[in-house]
Amino acid sequence: MLNKPPSLLRGRFAPSPTGLLHAGSLSTAVGSYLEARTRGGEWLVRIEDLDPPREVPGAADDILRTLEAFGFEWDGEVVYQSRRHHLYREALDGLIRAGRVYPCTCTRREIQARARRGIDGLVYPGFCRQGCLPERSARAWRLRVDNEPVVFEDRLQGRCEQQLEHDIGDVVLLRADGFWAYQLAVVVDDADQGVTDVVRGADLLVSTARQIAVYQALGEPRPDYCHLPLMVNAAGEKLSKQTLAPAIHSDHAARELALALTRLGHRPPDEAGSLAELWTWAREHWSLQRIQPAPVTIVS
Ligand code: GLU
Ligand code: ZN
Repeated sequence: MLNKPPSLLRGRFAPSPTGLLHAGSLSTAVGSYLEARTRGGEWLVRIEDLDPPREVPGAADDILRTLEAFGFEWDGEVVYQSRRHHLYREALDGLIRAGRVYPCTCTRREIQARARRGIDGLVYPGFCRQGCLPERSARAWRLRVDNEPVVFEDRLQGRCEQQLEHDIGDVVLLRADGFWAYQLAVVVDDADQGVTDVVRGADLLVSTARQIAVYQALGEPRPDYCHLPLMVNAAGEKLSKQTLAPAIHSDHAARELALALTRLGHRPPDEAGSLAELWTWAREHWSLQRIQPAPVTIVS
């Protein structure tokens, strides 16, 4: 844990370098930044480069340069998940010692053949809970979950509840291919960095109960959550590299920032002037109450 006074609010922006910044990730950055700053808090940037096969060379640097050109100011050094594997290992080892996790040798095909569909893909039926096949070497590690409801109040989306065993199944923390799972790394890092307020896109709302279960298993306090409206294209798909969302360029930063604020329910003046003036306006007018939780369609 970083040393921090107990009342300090700390937010963060945690992009995966699987593509350049687009309208969706820019609005997440703007929302998490303004929410932290207008409440007197700190704001961190963490590059979530956990999954090399999906990463685009140069994307992490490009994202950071674009954030800088937009005038975002982050506290401390940028943190890279690729350099923090020892922390994830330590956390998993602790959970192994505590008997909270178990190795799983099931293949995707075996799971597909017998699992039912839940709210976020197939529900792992727990085949390996009582032990797995020792002759198989590729093994994932899963956190054992139960049906005790996980309930939390999202600051924008309202009350959310999941029964993890029924809705999701035991959660992979270390993947069979040897990569660390997002669900473990994000919790270990947010806990280690003292993040108190997670503000991110609504596509991750469905992951939050899992992450709360990981916090509980690690004995760490969980942050507050605020899931911003999802930015979707005309077909209703989440903006991403896969859906060919155009990259944001900083040469029209003031216009892009005004658009991001508008998509988050704010009404910057038509003549906001310079980027610095627009940020000043944004800090003075920012309010979560202006944001509608429903998806926002972006026509590019
Ligand atoms: N790295 C994740 C993404 O880009 C975000 C993680 C988070 O904010 O919790 O989708
Ligand atoms: Zn298994």
